[in-house]
Amino acid sequence: MPVVFKRPIGPVVSTITADQWLALPKSKRPSTVAFWKGEGLDGAPIVAILTGLVLKSSNRKTGEMAQSYIVRQDMSPMDASRLGLDVSVCGTCDLRQHLVAKILAETGERKAKCYVNVGWLTKMWTGWYTGQVVWMDPVEVGKLLAYLSLPLRQGAYGDPAAVPLSVWDAMDTVKGTSYSHQWKSIDIKKYAMASVKNLKEAQEAQSKGWRTYRVDVEQVGPQAGEIMCPAESKGVTCAACGLCNGTRGKSAKSIVIDPIGKFN
Ligand code: SF4
Repeated sequence: MPVVFKRPIGPVVSTITADQWLALPKSKRPSTVAFWKGEGLDGAPIVAILTGLVLKSSNRKTGEMAQSYIVRQDMSPMDASRLGLDVSVCGTCDLRQHLVAKILAETGERKAKCYVNVGWLTKMWTGWYTGQVVWMDPVEVGKLLAYLSLPLRQGAYGDPAAVPLSVWDAMDTVKGTSYSHQWKSIDIKKYAMASVKNLKEAQEAQSKGWRTYRVDVEQVGPQAGEIMCPAESKGVTCAACGLCNGTRGKSAKSIVIDPIGKFN
């Protein structure tokens, strides 16, 4: 049974603009803001939260980027993951942890799973749920990211396709990265790479105009029109590289990553 909380949903305590944020003493500036609330991929209530405005991301692959997390409003990411209700933010992605655990229990087969720490996410969600996270409208977020020259990683957790394109358009002031498993059903190719796990899917997504991010489970290496992720081959960060920017960028190349490489 889903965990149902009795208090009202969405207890955002106040709204802040980019100028107000910048006018605060550095020690008082919020590092985390909420920027969108609405219906998720299955119609359930979800919220998008941005971190890394002050406290820089410790993710050694991405480097310093603002990171957006898309979670359910009405239950913690840990409960959503455990109950399979993360479909609201992750869609049908087969890396979801409860699916992988079910396959392991039923067949003994150990599949690749989503690497996101839902325990840490739950702490972030609890901060939002208990009213400790301020609200900043997407246009203001876009202004602030531009001022800070901070690249944006859409959907560090949750699929960016769960958030309307108009919201990402309002925040489109800096370079950034994005990945979507919803490429068959939702068109967010302007921002996101289609997450694919084999050549057949890559060809299908590319034929629909997407650039792809292929996890090379088949171990066939980069094909025509693809390059190996430079984080693997050259040790650069995503903040410096920025190639996973959908169809926004000049590069038409798609990306390949080794599932047994140093970041997997
Ligand atoms: S290609 Fe660049 S942006 Fe994409 S995952 Fe690799 S390092 Fe990050």
